[in-house]
Amino acid sequence: MVASVHQDAAEETRLAEEAATMEPSDDALSKQATCAAMSTGMSYETLSAFFEAAGLGHIGKTSFYEFQKVFKVKTMEVYRETTEAALDRARNRKVYVATDAQYDTSRNGYYCVVTVIDQDTSMVLHQGVVTRVDKELQEKHNGSTVMSEVLGTRRVLGGEPARHRPGLIEKLQTRSAHIDEVVHDNNIKVDTVLRELLPNAVNSKDLWHETEGKIVEPTRVLVASTNDPEIKALVAYYLKKRQDANLPGSFGAMLKNHFYHAAAACFAAGETDPMHLHARFVTTFFRHVCGDHSLCCGKCDPGGDFPAIKRDGAAYASLVALLKGTSEV
Ligand SMILES: [Zn+2]
Repeated sequence: MVASVHQDAAEETRLAEEAATMEPSDDALSKQATCAAMSTGMSYETLSAFFEAAGLGHIGKTSFYEFQKVFKVKTMEVYRETTEAALDRARNRKVYVATDAQYDTSRNGYYCVVTVIDQDTSMVLHQGVVTRVDKELQEKHNGSTVMSEVLGTRRVLGGEPARHRPGLIEKLQTRSAHIDEVVHDNNIKVDTVLRELLPNAVNSKDLWHETEGKIVEPTRVLVASTNDPEIKALVAYYLKKRQDANLPGSFGAMLKNHFYHAAAACFAAGETDPMHLHARFVTTFFRHVCGDHSLCCGKCDPGGDFPAIKRDGAAYASLVALLKGTSEV
């Protein structure tokens, strides 16, 4: 093992020297693509098929596996060092964490990576990977990739006792620390895992998903059902704008963006009361739909065709009624 680590280190130096003097060429492209592919968890077969389909030539099998060996060792070293440092910074305190899953593709992903971040230090405390062919996922959940986040969260927090792998809860316990609050998305099955593993911790939804249910969705319903010409014009404006830019989303996306910027402004101003966020969002949103973009963080560039709604019209009144408690408007 020791010999192999030394060999890997020598190999790493050789590859780094080679990379430093690399001229742009097919060979350089092949090496860079190999590194990029590894960071996303792509296999030799997948990358090779991609190169062939794209007419980019041939990827050397031996080089790929040589690179992979170095890459894996280095990645594991960096992971171990940074998570150990993150755990040490959590020592003797209540820890407020955020968890989420990331998939390698948007549908039916092979890899699901669950990450836990310490919200006070913004450092990754722990990470776990569940693949589509995971034995437990296959046996208990019929290989459902939706369930891989749930299984991943359970393992990351609770560990895998059968394989003697401690989870984050245990790792923190050995440092006299414990999880006090978990913030995550709207996955109710994750709620079940949290209730079981961390019955005393606060279980929170992240702002983005919370907004989706409380503000974006009701507004979307309103704008979809209304006959108000002013609101219809606004919705049409956003649809066209998004289509022109070839982007998904519409009125709801605009709403989310404004909420997000209001949250960022609160954070920058050190405002922690939810009412501050409400006030900022409501004020910014209403000014925006009425055509005043002075509070929109400089991100709005609506142009002359923006169909601003009138402050004394029915559209304005129905939006105010929707976002109750709008005394700040
Ligand atoms: Zn605006």
